[in-house]
Amino acid sequence: MTEVKVAPEEKVRKKPSFVKPWLGLKYLFKRPVTIKIPDEKIDPAPKYRGFHTLDWKKCVGCNFCGQICPARAIEMTWIEGEKRPHPKIDYGRCTFCQFCVDVCPTGALSFIESYILTTTWREEELELYDWVPIPPDKFREMQEKFGDYRFPLEKMEFNRETKEVTYYLRDGEVMKFKILGYGIKPPKSPAEKAYEK
Ligand code: SF4
Ligand code: SF4
Repeated sequence: MTEVKVAPEEKVRKKPSFVKPWLGLKYLFKRPVTIKIPDEKIDPAPKYRGFHTLDWKKCVGCNFCGQICPARAIEMTWIEGEKRPHPKIDYGRCTFCQFCVDVCPTGALSFIESYILTTTWREEELELYDWVPIPPDKFREMQEKFGDYRFPLEKMEFNRETKEVTYYLRDGEVMKFKILGYGIKPPKSPAEKAYEK
């Protein structure tokens, strides 16, 4: 067995310096590298991996996106009037790796370079960031109109009793839909639930 040598304490201990702490003072006179989001912005690189977009007509509900997601940020969501479930993405978990976009067989799930995600710590605002993404054309239209790379919803309402969701988009448009359930299997109808009882 090879002997493991431990470095003596005097070799690893750094000598105290009375100059080094003062070197940090030079940063007082430099411009900060951080920006004041959301009042300032940095133009992202082309193809920057920002928020998702979803073409609801192209999505076939295969859940490949949900299966590959390393952060478990995707929950398949059944929406009234849609034949297949669509992914709901939780930005509290998402790491913006875009594996879900790469694996989507129909190209329904995509992304846009918009990336600014801020709140003023009101609880209802946090719900904004757990959403079924809007179609790419609509998101692009808003990015071109405002040019600030911000999230496209101003407000989201979720009625817990009726399961109705209302998206208030930044351009004043309103999108309404009703969530029937979550998961890969279709939710049971009221008649099926009554029969089981
Ligand atoms: S970008 Fe990555 S972490 Fe976010 S939902 Fe897609 S697969 Fe999951
Ligand atoms: S977004 Fe793509 S991968 Fe996800 S369920 Fe729809 S078709 Fe399948």
